[in-house]
Amino acid sequence: MHDDKEGFLYPVIDTAVCIDCGLCEKVCPVLNQNNVRKPLQVFAAKNRNEIQRLHSSSGGIFILLAEQIIQNGGVVFGARFDKNWEVEHCYAERIEELQPLMRSKYVQSRIANTYKEVESFLKHGRQILFVGTSCQIAGLHKFLRKDYDNLLTVDFICHGVPSPGVWRKYLEEIISDKSSRSEVAGKNSVLLSTKNRPLRAIKIRFCCPQYLMRMIL
Ligand SMILES: Cc1cc2nc3c(=O)[nH]c(=O)nc-3n(C[C@H](O)[C@H](O)[C@H](O)COP(=O)(O)OP(=O)(O)OC[C@H]3O[C@@H](n4cnc5c(N)ncnc54)[C@H](O)[C@@H]3O)c2cc1C
Repeated sequence: MHDDKEGFLYPVIDTAVCIDCGLCEKVCPVLNQNNVRKPLQVFAAKNRNEIQRLHSSSGGIFILLAEQIIQNGGVVFGARFDKNWEVEHCYAERIEELQPLMRSKYVQSRIANTYKEVESFLKHGRQILFVGTSCQIAGLHKFLRKDYDNLLTVDFICHGVPSPGVWRKYLEEIISDKSSRSEVAGKNSVLLSTKNRPLRAIKIRFCCPQYLMRMIL
């Protein structure tokens, strides 16, 4: 996967090692669109636990599903920030590992090896919850090429992901800006900084639904 000129991740074929089997094209969810389906049932729900809801981006349903899966011995896949504040998919096997996966990160998440990890867990009979954008879920199903009873996939309402390249550039700009206390992105986004001290983000939170971001540095 390589960055395109706008900083989005796209698959690139290394023609030096490609054996021309065509499998990547067969499983590409963009080239092989599914038929449009109508929902069988529609439910509205929200988590009754106010603290969990406050730590979620919307109704806090993700954490309820995730806890249930882990209590049943399963594995939960979702998106978290890595140590460089880039967004990546990873998995949790313990309730304590779920918190970094909570909340929306409005950046395209790196799938890395998670599809392979899902397949391996599924083949070992583990119950899996995989949460992601609808294109990531379509990609996972195409990658697996068969249905598994022990796989639950959840895609959220998503109008698209912002570019990781733009996100990286933005972070570089504000984190390397050692200027004193300043306001960076409108009156609701606050950048706290101390004079003459290199800045380090310790927490980043995108605030739904206005896509505002609060950083604590
Ligand atoms: C990229 C993106 C676009 C969105 N666009 C819309 C929209 O157009 N309209 C709207 O109403 N809502 C949008 N949302 C909000 C989304 O619908 C809510 O995040 C979701 O409903 C929150 O559910 P929750 O409160 O149950 O769980 P939360 O705890 O908030 O869980 C969020 C779940 O999403 C996963 N996730 C977070 N960031 C990413 C990411 N970058 N890529 C893949 N998975 C991720 C987490 O791992 C977690 O499983 C968007 C969210 C994202 C991440």
